[in-house]
Amino acid sequence: MRTQIVAGNWKMNKNLAETETLLSELAAKLPDTKAEVIVAPTFVNLASAVKALDASDIQVAAQNMHFESNGAFTGEISADMLLNIGVDTVILGHSERRSIFGEDDALLLKKVETALAKNMKVIFCFGEELEDRKTEKHFEVVASQLKNVLFGLAPEQWSKIILAYEPVWAIGTGETASPEQAQEMHAFIRKTIADAVTPTIAENVTILYGGSVKPANAKDIFSKPDVDGGLIGGASLKSDDFIAIVNAI
Ligand code: PEP
Repeated sequence: MRTQIVAGNWKMNKNLAETETLLSELAAKLPDTKAEVIVAPTFVNLASAVKALDASDIQVAAQNMHFESNGAFTGEISADMLLNIGVDTVILGHSERRSIFGEDDALLLKKVETALAKNMKVIFCFGEELEDRKTEKHFEVVASQLKNVLFGLAPEQWSKIILAYEPVWAIGTGETASPEQAQEMHAFIRKTIADAVTPTIAENVTILYGGSVKPANAKDIFSKPDVDGGLIGGASLKSDDFIAIVNAI
């Protein structure tokens, strides 16, 4: 049985007081669920989030990290710094990091390797742009993103990998992949991993869908056999919406 996960990517939202309010609401409303629940507040609020969720099952992730341990990298945060404050999960490869901050597969490979060497869990995001889908290159693009970053990993490293398929055209746009489109791509991802890595790893890896998941569409998307939960942006910023999505698992 694969781990089902609902993760909230808060992006550059919520100051300290707002973070504490949302976390206390989430902790109070968290239902008894078989899903792992993860939230990713901004870097400056991670340490307080870890403390605030000390008695809760909700886990805390970072939205990014650098691949070096320390040194002259102004504005960056290392894996050791995250681990030092009790954060052992990191989101890497989000489409906003790729498109706004220029992160490419070569850089992401270094980040993933560092996170895994530090025994961290990685939520690895990937997905095609609208143009790729219009020109029917979406499978090719996704296969290449996976291959360039993940297919050189040792088999035992895969237990720390959580995949998040996020079609860029569906992120923050209100446009969602249909449950059928999500299932079609998730099945393709599993088959690609089965062929390139091993069938067992393909069967066991958690694949989240991300892109305008809302309380109204979560159940239909999560009901698909190869969808193991969601990475949620906008709807993770309101406790009632995020909890409704957790309840859709
Ligand atoms: C995201 O940024 O990972 C995301 C899925 O955002 P949204 O849910 O707002 O589309």
